[in-house]
Amino acid sequence: MLVLRSFMILFFSCITIKINLCFPSIPSSLKTLSIDGHFDFEQVEHAAKDFGNRYSYLPLAVLYPKSVSDIATTVNHVWQIGGGSELKVAARGHGHSLQGQAQAHRGVVINMESLQGLKMQVHTGNFPYVDVSGGELWINILRESLKHGLAPKSWTDYLHLTVGGTLSNAGISGQAFRHGPQISNVHQLEVVTGKGEVVNCSEKQNSDLFYSVLGGLGQFGIITRARISLEPAPEMVKWIRMVYTDFDTFTRDQEKLISGQSTFDYVEGFVIINRTGLLNNWRSSFNPQDPLQASQFKSDGRTLFCLELAKYFNHEDMVLVNQVSHS
Ligand SMILES: Cc1cc2nc3c(=O)[nH]c(=O)nc-3n(C[C@H](O)[C@H](O)[C@H](O)COP(=O)(O)OP(=O)(O)OC[C@H]3O[C@@H](n4cnc5c(N)ncnc54)[C@H](O)[C@@H]3O)c2cc1C
Repeated sequence: MLVLRSFMILFFSCITIKINLCFPSIPSSLKTLSIDGHFDFEQVEHAAKDFGNRYSYLPLAVLYPKSVSDIATTVNHVWQIGGGSELKVAARGHGHSLQGQAQAHRGVVINMESLQGLKMQVHTGNFPYVDVSGGELWINILRESLKHGLAPKSWTDYLHLTVGGTLSNAGISGQAFRHGPQISNVHQLEVVTGKGEVVNCSEKQNSDLFYSVLGGLGQFGIITRARISLEPAPEMVKWIRMVYTDFDTFTRDQEKLISGQSTFDYVEGFVIINRTGLLNNWRSSFNPQDPLQASQFKSDGRTLFCLELAKYFNHEDMVLVNQVSHS
């Protein structure tokens, strides 16, 4: 028994020694890099969490970059170390993905929101656009572009997500039937490649990289800057929600609305599995003090379907918009 115990202790200590011999210098070699931002090797738990709450992989370090060159230097360093180290790098936007996509087990997580310091630049004119950092939140882009009477063409429903995070997926919302998803409304990207090179790409320039990175789940490069298409922001919006009990009628109406030429500017359909009552689900939609309006929205536990519609307009078109929405 004693011999077996001694053997086990020796065996496990050998494994530890082997691991330490293989990667003795990774944290210290990262510390030697000349960067504007910094690495954190201690407070890394938050980088092992995401919105899904199902996967949790602790990284070795979190990089808080202050410049694009910080990211390029780090990625190039990892490239130089070589594949043998199995050191992974993951860009992390707002960490709202579900399956650990923005995590790096024993690797380096790059906190992209630290790049928000890079100034946003709105360009007006006939084809307006905005140049933004890959770590910028969409809510900040909306606020900044509205100062110029402009807004991005294609959205996600929730705006506290980063540009790099949604462009790595698709970025879909109720405007996608008209403008395509967010990845179809990007003119140009600046990307740090797997070798740590900083490359500009677009439909015409390095197009393979451009189309790989868009919707590439962070596997083809790190988006450090993006040129996003804008359009004049509407002055007013007519917002309508239509509730259906019949699935066929719901889908027929939705198809009619998205195939029509001048119907609505935003069309989104969703299923309501009612557990707590519609009023609770839609607290923001109705005034709970209004018993007459509220009483019309009872689902009696059934599954319901909803079309959410919006029509953009200017003050002078008010009458016309009311006609369209009633017909
Ligand atoms: C409440 C909520 C509402 C949502 N609503 C919508 C919606 O309406 N429409 C929709 O399309 N999606 C929606 N999503 C999904 C969301 O768009 C994606 O999960 C998106 O990836 C999250 O962005 P993030 O900034 O949190 O990215 P993260 O979760 O941090 O990262 C997601 C992926 O992108 C990579 N990545 C992050 N930044 C970069 C970068 N700069 N360069 C390269 N790769 C990068 C990461 O490595 C990872 O693979 C929603 C999610 C939540 C939690």
